[in-house]
Amino acid sequence: MALVRYHCAICGGSIEEGSQFDPCGVSIFSNLNKPESQQLEQMFFTHYECFRGALEPGTRDYLNFEDQR
Ligand SMILES: [Zn+2]
Repeated sequence: MALVRYHCAICGGSIEEGSQFDPCGVSIFSNLNKPESQQLEQMFFTHYECFRGALEPGTRDYLNFEDQR
């Protein structure tokens, strides 16, 4: 039994361990054009495939974990 359960921020499902890249964490940073002291960061858990599917196709081409193995 896993001590930590991950829930996908995109589909709401639980993220089972054992898949190729899951669980994934996606971070969002606010105010990127401002000094670091004014920035905030928060991370969300997602399935790799859910995050990949949420990207528009042109951006999706840059997500290449498969090619980095
Ligand atoms: Zn998901």
